[in-house]
Amino acid sequence: MNDPDAYKIIIVGAGPTGLSTALHLARRLPSLTKEILILEAAEHPRPKLCGGGVTFHGEEQLHRLGLQIDVPAFTINRLLFRLGGLDFTVPFPHAMRIIERRLFDAAIAEAVTAVGLKVHSNEKLLDMQPVPGGMQLQTNRGHYRAQIVVGADGANSMVRRRLHITGQPGVARLLRVLTPIVPEENEGWQAQTAVFDFSCIQHGIQGYSWDFPCLIEGKPFMNRGMFDSRVTPEQPRGNLKQVFFAQLANQHVNLEHVQLEGHPVRWFHPQATFARPHVLLAGDAAGVDPLFAEGISYGMEYGAIVARQIEDAFARNDFRFQNYKAMLQKDRLGRLLKRRAFIARHLFSYHWPQMVAFIWRLATVAPLKIQHAFGSFLGLLPPYRTAV
Ligand SMILES: Cc1cc2nc3c(=O)[nH]c(=O)nc-3n(C[C@H](O)[C@H](O)[C@H](O)COP(=O)(O)OP(=O)(O)OC[C@H]3O[C@@H](n4cnc5c(N)ncnc54)[C@H](O)[C@@H]3O)c2cc1C
Repeated sequence: MNDPDAYKIIIVGAGPTGLSTALHLARRLPSLTKEILILEAAEHPRPKLCGGGVTFHGEEQLHRLGLQIDVPAFTINRLLFRLGGLDFTVPFPHAMRIIERRLFDAAIAEAVTAVGLKVHSNEKLLDMQPVPGGMQLQTNRGHYRAQIVVGADGANSMVRRRLHITGQPGVARLLRVLTPIVPEENEGWQAQTAVFDFSCIQHGIQGYSWDFPCLIEGKPFMNRGMFDSRVTPEQPRGNLKQVFFAQLANQHVNLEHVQLEGHPVRWFHPQATFARPHVLLAGDAAGVDPLFAEGISYGMEYGAIVARQIEDAFARNDFRFQNYKAMLQKDRLGRLLKRRAFIARHLFSYHWPQMVAFIWRLATVAPLKIQHAFGSFLGLLPPYRTAV
């Protein structure tokens, strides 16, 4: 391709998904490195609303990419699960780290440019149309053509919108506040605990709230949020903001001083549309976890699958991507997300409150080994045999 505005592959979005896709592609198809362009609407380090929790699964994905992302982080050694007055705690050293997305994503972006991949910052995709042999893209700076477009542009994906995919379920709402804390007075900080509180399901919220101790610009904070998956949209819906604020008030958070922020997450539905000829969707643009809204690790895992699909497309000279959905479903990513979706649908619909309370009570008295095994079944912790 001699035309300077024509690329073999254009990745839209330089979050964990787009960056991981680029790095996997550079490994699989090194001869194409110069023919890949990443378009990013913002410029790293850019803000991204998030809980900042990187699970062991996320660390695994970084390891696969050969990346060591050493950014300031708060280490979590205990996971606490709560429903009403019932708590159980699963201790596990380095179960998670809580990072600042701004710094974490920027560090991955640095690794991407270090291998010679091209990122155009402050360049936003505005429109995309099919043309013979690929797609035509219009940004705030110019026009491009690409044989393949990867939509890694998040939950409000423009690539997805331009594919005119309609009538598909799957958008969760999340609210978050950051509150400064005094470490000596904060139990969660002292015990290095991440709290997952599912009590809001009793108020019509199909999700949970989190309390993650963290560092913001080196200062101690609590990252608090509430997730409403809406995996069963037919259920009566609680008022997310009201329930979240009531919970914050219970935690003695001064509501006058919090800055409330919200952002959606699209969750994975195995029957959703993930591709069209010459276009693949990945990460939040395609769908991530409906149980915890975990998307950093899944986004990076999508990157590996997308790179395999693209390698195969060039090998067969077939860019229809007809088996991408089947590949996603068969992959560990799809199997784990389907498992989480199953639990999410049953727990969040809250059809049988007494049954849920009974199972929860059993979990609180179960031996640690069983609690841990459940954590690893959900992909939150490594398999029990490698633990401790
Ligand atoms: C409140 C909240 C808390 C969360 N907490 C966690 C957590 O603790 N752990 C976890 O694993 N996940 C969490 N998630 C989910 C996680 O943030 C996402 O799943 C993850 O960021 C998805 O990565 P991505 O690369 O697909 O999308 P994004 O991270 O959203 O990246 C998309 C990129 O595309 C760019 N972009 C967007 N539109 C365009 C355009 N038109 N042109 C060019 N570029 C564009 C954006 O600027 C952005 O850089 C949370 C989400 C929310 C909302």
